[in-house]
Amino acid sequence: MALVVKKFGGTSVGTVEKIQLVAQRVIAQQQQGDQVVVVVSAMAGETNRLVGLSHAITKTPEGREYDVLVSTGEQVTISLLSLAIQNMGGKAISFLGHQVKILTDEAHSKARILSIEGERIHQELGQGKVVVVAGFQGVDRQGNLTTLGRGGSDTTAVALAAALKADICEIFTDVDGVYTTDPNMVPHAKKIDRISYDEMLEMASTGAKVLQIRSVEMAAKYQVPLEVRCTFNDNPGTLVTQEEAQMESRMVTGVSYDRNEAKIAVREVPDKPGIASKIFTPVSEANINVDMIVQNVSSKGHTDLTFTVPKSELQQSLKIVEPIAKAIGAKQVETSTEIAKVSVIGLGMRSHAGIAAKMFETLAQDNINVQMISTSEIKISIIIDEKYLELAVRILHDAFELGN
Ligand code: ASP
Ligand code: MG
Repeated sequence: MALVVKKFGGTSVGTVEKIQLVAQRVIAQQQQGDQVVVVVSAMAGETNRLVGLSHAITKTPEGREYDVLVSTGEQVTISLLSLAIQNMGGKAISFLGHQVKILTDEAHSKARILSIEGERIHQELGQGKVVVVAGFQGVDRQGNLTTLGRGGSDTTAVALAAALKADICEIFTDVDGVYTTDPNMVPHAKKIDRISYDEMLEMASTGAKVLQIRSVEMAAKYQVPLEVRCTFNDNPGTLVTQEEAQMESRMVTGVSYDRNEAKIAVREVPDKPGIASKIFTPVSEANINVDMIVQNVSSKGHTDLTFTVPKSELQQSLKIVEPIAKAIGAKQVETSTEIAKVSVIGLGMRSHAGIAAKMFETLAQDNINVQMISTSEIKISIIIDEKYLELAVRILHDAFELGN
């Protein structure tokens, strides 16, 4: 007997018919003798609809009320799924986050899970029930509802799997697993059978949208085996797991991309100690995530400082950076939103030399100019002109022979 946590995303519970299909899958697994906990998201589009309603009232909804609103989508799906299971002759019980004490910090709309009380869930499982838990939500110490950030149901599922010491956490979605790159962009992209936590984390952080970043961090921390698979077929998915020797033998595991960054260039900054901190400290204090930073070689005592921030935080960043630029005597501040980030990822970078060289040669052959570069031990990211994004992803995917 295994204890399995199964998470179904919005497209998997997008209609009553799909919810019934999920109910069948869940019952089938239970009939094999396993204990099943199910985490569901809101019906596809529902959370966006709720966010839209709040924005129709105010551009900046207050955090607590925003969370009360946007967490309601999951209350609908846990109930419908439980009813569907019961209606097929199974036993099921639904829980909201606070009912199983998914305790979080107070950071509304991006709360972190601190602990989960597993006893009630174990009790219900012991009575032969399927336990259906609302994804994406929790409760803080004062009893306020909180949400975990968009896509947060993945994190609920992994946290539950860790707290309940489940044997596996399965993330069901509308694709067969994690692909070498976005199959919508490169149709011959291949499904990856096994990928390490670190590689998956880099993929998620650089734009691959299959899993919420935090869920991967948590899976790595608690060593929860994670399988990404499709709701609508029985194909084996992608197992996200500990590093295995054979994973290092492939040079590159995947190519990811991100269109959501914007570039800020502060031109002709006096090249003196302390200037970078004058710019970046206030930006980070405003909780803005600076991703890449490049400082040009200085000429005549001046240098250019270029960095990227999320597009959604560009205006807020400029409000901070422009007055500082003026104060330190920089010539001007320029921005661009027509950029894209492309990353190649693989544990193999540790042992194979020349991956960066191959990447840059490939891009040069098609005359794609690299504007910025950043690397980690297992990743190389570049910023290019957005109009070359698809071309870059395709030629890199081919150059590293990732396709079918
Ligand atoms: N329903 C939430 C969202 O759309 C959480 C999730 O889907 O994981 O972001
Ligand atoms: Mg989702």
